Amino acid sequence: MKINGKSRVFAIIGNPVDHSLSPVIHNAAFKELRLNHVYVAFTVTSGELKTAVLGAKSLGLHGLNITMPHKHAVIKYLDEVDVTAKSVGAVNTVLCNHGKLIGYNTDGIGAMSALQENGVYTEEKKMVLLGAGGSAKAIAYQASQDLDELVILNRTPEKAKKLAESLKSFGVKVKSGILSPEIMKTEMPTTDILVNATSIGMHPNSDCSPVPLDILHSDLFVMDIIYNPLDTKLTKDAKTKGAKVVSGLEMLIYQGAIAFEIWTNCPAPIEVMRKAALKELKK
Ligand code: NAP
Repeated sequence: MKINGKSRVFAIIGNPVDHSLSPVIHNAAFKELRLNHVYVAFTVTSGELKTAVLGAKSLGLHGLNITMPHKHAVIKYLDEVDVTAKSVGAVNTVLCNHGKLIGYNTDGIGAMSALQENGVYTEEKKMVLLGAGGSAKAIAYQASQDLDELVILNRTPEKAKKLAESLKSFGVKVKSGILSPEIMKTEMPTTDILVNATSIGMHPNSDCSPVPLDILHSDLFVMDIIYNPLDTKLTKDAKTKGAKVVSGLEMLIYQGAIAFEIWTNCPAPIEVMRKAALKELKK
């Protein structure tokens, strides 16, 4: 990759960001398409968010990814926010267009694309979504455009209830509850798609799963949005029960691919991005 005076600069800002796979997948994609672009990561504390975003604008950075803990707080520093990001209340992608900062959220559409591109038919299906945090919100918003029925279960049930209430206007049949084996046992026999959007099972707690093994069944599609480890206890258990599994890496790739397309107007080289992420994860 040749960096010169004409290079377009992209960055992820968050805290922490040193573990992020985004520089790896985007630089691989830029190289594949021979674009004179470079993507870097900046650690930005909450106190520095405003100056970092305005600084990116002044420096003419072409695009940003925003990660934890800034996905909501960044909104007030942007010039425009698209309808999805506004509904979700979070931005993970910013396009700097002729000095204007425009915010998008590609997490939800990334998750649904990951399911669809891996052979999961999502229309008129029932999904159980575990979690009501930032990612769950984005997934719930996008899923409610396609699905027939959505059940949101969370450790803090008030958050699940609030999220469910916010989706009722989309016409999806939606209910909420506490994340418990009893409720899962009742819901799971009629469920088509199960998505884990909690942090349960994430490294270093990779021997934990949010779902007891005996509740899983072979007609389920299971997506765990955790990608570290790549094969979580939940996805391992699901496979032993004969369920089909989609890994969190797929969501990461598709949310990144959609951001790439917003920035470059070029189709993202998905396979190159996936290969680069897998190579990095295996290091
Ligand atoms: P978040 O906003 O902090 O939400 C965390 C969620 O996990 C909440 O629902 C929280 O429940 C629940 N939770 C945390 N610890 C729990 C525990 N011990 N028992 C039960 N529930 C627990 O985080 P997020 O940004 O949505 O991220 C969630 C996970 O998704 C992380 O593992 C992250 O790495 C992964 N992720 C993946 C992608 C991807 O592209 N694949 C993208 C973003 C995030 P409460 O509401 O009760 O606290």
